[in-house]
Amino acid sequence: MGLTRDFFILLSQNKVLNSGAKRWGLKLGAQSVVAGTSVEQMVESVKQLNAKGIAATIDNLGEFVFEKQEAIEAKTQILAVIEAIHGHGLDAHISLKPTQLGLDIDYDFCLDNLKEIVAKANDYAIFINFDMEDYGHLQPSFDIIDELSNDYTNIGTVIQAYFYEADENLQKYKDYRMRIVKGAYKEPENLAYQDKKDIDQNYIRLIEYHLLNGKFSSIATHDHHVINHVKKFAKDNNISKDKFEFQMLYGFRNELQLELADEGYKFCTYVPFGVDWYGYFMRRLAERPQNLNLVAKQMFNK
Ligand code: FAD
Repeated sequence: MGLTRDFFILLSQNKVLNSGAKRWGLKLGAQSVVAGTSVEQMVESVKQLNAKGIAATIDNLGEFVFEKQEAIEAKTQILAVIEAIHGHGLDAHISLKPTQLGLDIDYDFCLDNLKEIVAKANDYAIFINFDMEDYGHLQPSFDIIDELSNDYTNIGTVIQAYFYEADENLQKYKDYRMRIVKGAYKEPENLAYQDKKDIDQNYIRLIEYHLLNGKFSSIATHDHHVINHVKKFAKDNNISKDKFEFQMLYGFRNELQLELADEGYKFCTYVPFGVDWYGYFMRRLAERPQNLNLVAKQMFNK
């Protein structure tokens, strides 16, 4: 299992495959978990979710960008998504990754790109969620959030439960709308829990803390054990259903997504789209090799 995970994480970071895949269009079954390559295709997918009472957080795929031009293109695309959310009246907000907007190129360049995005979204009262990436980007991402918080309130971020310092960050950012996840990247033992049991335990502890003390919580998991625990915890502690939502990735556990929405829980699907689908797709395979079924089905259904 460990080896398979490492293998797909390595594949997700392969530069040649990442750039080649931009020309392939959605392949290998990725269309089951990626909502198209264009804004128009994404809008159609979000409309279908909204019709079922499900909100969306939209991710214009792309990360680990090292060229200014690429970061500027990403910014332009995200501004177009903001216009589309507003223009089509979608029940949706944005998720973005600081490295896509140039965090690895230059901090101030990235900050300026993000400022433009957050300001535009603020004009339309659209929320921007900063996805959290690997440990090396954690502190600069928080620094950017701190700077933007001087002028804007339409921002929030993610706490990754596998980090030992997750607790401290959750307390510091308890007044933000916060997504809480287990954590998707491969991190060393001196920074993060490695054992699934430890991660799960910390995850539950952090969720409970934010539900009791924090602003709005987005509980982003496909784990029904966690979801069932949260439902019971919220009921036992009189936490109303408008103080939190469940989030899952597009194409994952679709029946459970609908079931939760039908039960009256707020539900928000993370909707990735764009030509930069390859790294995202490989990380999903790393987390859950069973997702290889998607690839197999696709290959045999041609
Ligand atoms: P897992 O620990 O993978 O699974 C636990 C159990 O749940 C499994 O044993 C199985 O019983 C059940 N299960 C899980 N998946 C399925 C499935 N597809 N079908 C059936 N049963 C299943 N990570 C980051 O580091 N940064 C981010 O910004 C970030 N944002 C995210 C946003 C969203 C909306 C989501 C859903 C995840 C995000 N993640 C992010 C990824 C996250 O950190 C985890 O790596 C990922 O969600 C896998 O953990 P899990 O909690 O879903 O359950």
